[in-house]
Amino acid sequence: MNVDEPKTNTPTITSTGPEKPPNKPTAKQSKKNEPKSSKKEKTAGISDSNKTLNYLYQASNLLTTQGNLVLARHYNKSSKQIALKTVQRLNKSIKRTTCKRCCAVLIPGITSTNRISDNRESHLVTTCKHCKKVKRFPIKSDKNIQ
Ligand SMILES: [Zn+2]
Repeated sequence: MNVDEPKTNTPTITSTGPEKPPNKPTAKQSKKNEPKSSKKEKTAGISDSNKTLNYLYQASNLLTTQGNLVLARHYNKSSKQIALKTVQRLNKSIKRTTCKRCCAVLIPGITSTNRISDNRESHLVTTCKHCKKVKRFPIKSDKNIQ
């Protein structure tokens, strides 16, 4: 007899089936939530790679100052690869402070040396200490100041 009782209980569970109409408003609520989530997805899709690029650059900067140059170079290299995959341009300041050859973060005094050369036009010469790669940036002088 005890076995029959659970069987009688199961029809009562099926009787909960007619409660599906209350589920429909929940479906409407989910529809209301869908546009918000889609907006989040759109913004998240764009900003996710930016966030990772920013995070990796900051992490490599910190690791360079702490002395872990190998891991810092790895992080910087992976950020460069992410930028290539997602077809994004790296920021000018990031581009100027990374070595093209070994992907090290160029911090003057730690991983690079800076000097000003006055041959022809004056320019800033940045040399990577790890691979000896040289970067040159022109220094624009304002004539109005002098
Ligand atoms: Zn280098």
